[in-house]
Amino acid sequence: MSELVPYVDLKGQHAELKEEILEAVAGVIDRGDFVLGESVRKFETAFAELCGSKFAIGVNSGTDALILAMRALGIGEGDEVITPPNSFVGSTSAIIVCGANPVFVDVGEDRNIDPNLIETAITPKTKAIMPVHLGGIPAKMEQINAVAKKHEIAVIDDCAQAIGSRYDGQPVGSLGDISCFSLHPLKNLNACGDGGMITTDDEKVVEEIRLLRNLGLKDRNTCVHWSGNSRLDTIQAAILLVKLNHFERTASGRQSIATYYMDALANVSQVRLPVVDEASEPVFHTFVIQVDDRDALKNYLLERGIKTSIHYPTPIHLQPVAEDLGYGEGSFPVAERQAKDILTIPGFDGLTREQMERITQSISDFYNR
Ligand SMILES: *Cc1c(COP(=O)(O)O)cnc(C)c1O
Repeated sequence: MSELVPYVDLKGQHAELKEEILEAVAGVIDRGDFVLGESVRKFETAFAELCGSKFAIGVNSGTDALILAMRALGIGEGDEVITPPNSFVGSTSAIIVCGANPVFVDVGEDRNIDPNLIETAITPKTKAIMPVHLGGIPAKMEQINAVAKKHEIAVIDDCAQAIGSRYDGQPVGSLGDISCFSLHPLKNLNACGDGGMITTDDEKVVEEIRLLRNLGLKDRNTCVHWSGNSRLDTIQAAILLVKLNHFERTASGRQSIATYYMDALANVSQVRLPVVDEASEPVFHTFVIQVDDRDALKNYLLERGIKTSIHYPTPIHLQPVAEDLGYGEGSFPVAERQAKDILTIPGFDGLTREQMERITQSISDFYNR
């Protein structure tokens, strides 16, 4: 009987770091600086360095990172933001929560927004393009930035799944005007709870976001904006500093899993592998293959004790909540076809060689049965 291959293993990941994490938490408790404390500042500095950006600001989630980035640019009621329809729902929710309208543009074979389709979607109301580096594969930022520059609109990239990835040698987080990250437990650099980061080189934006994340308070007694509370917890920042010390290993572990899959599945002609262009060096968040008989393969793997996932089975424009947006079946043929064909196979840090072999062998057995 095959041993189960889980889809993720958070317990395993934390077993090794537990002592170090508990020590970091104890440090915060001893200092008592629970709100915007020393560890938040330290983590912001270290994160900016990792991303090759001038500034990083800690916030409470990836979703709030996106919301604050847009609010810092004054994006709101009546404005339009261009984004792909195949992301996690958070990218689009952030646009709506700001009061703006999402304008979807279909994706390419790399599953990222198709830069050639962006220009026709731009109207006088367009304020920003929000590409998503889906699964860790960087979007075509050179072309996206060029279109944005030409039309004098901003690029806010959703980097939630792409920490550590590089494009043209530059780290994700240094590619757009404002870059937004999630530190959710399932992301590649993960808190023990929620967290998010924003990186940018624009000092004005930084000042604005620091106000917006903290109820618009300039100092304890002076409020200059109506805003909520989106602060990153000091305890999470302390934990994240521990994780960051090990991140290089996490990232290279994920990269070698991807390399293994790319090689091992290259000969299975029914499997379409992730499309990565020459300029990109992804740290995969999800390793997504595409096959015609996805559900049958998924079930076959499950029968053999291998858990897989789908990111994401329903494109955002076809969600019940999106009915008002005026899109429907057929609006984005590429994203819709991919939603039927995609399958995410386990790629977590800590996956063993034996487990990877089991996965790739089972996939090829499925097609030889
Ligand atoms: C996870 C994720 C988000 C939201 O991040 P949270 O920290 O869960 O709020 C947004 N966009 C993408 C692409 C994501 O994967």
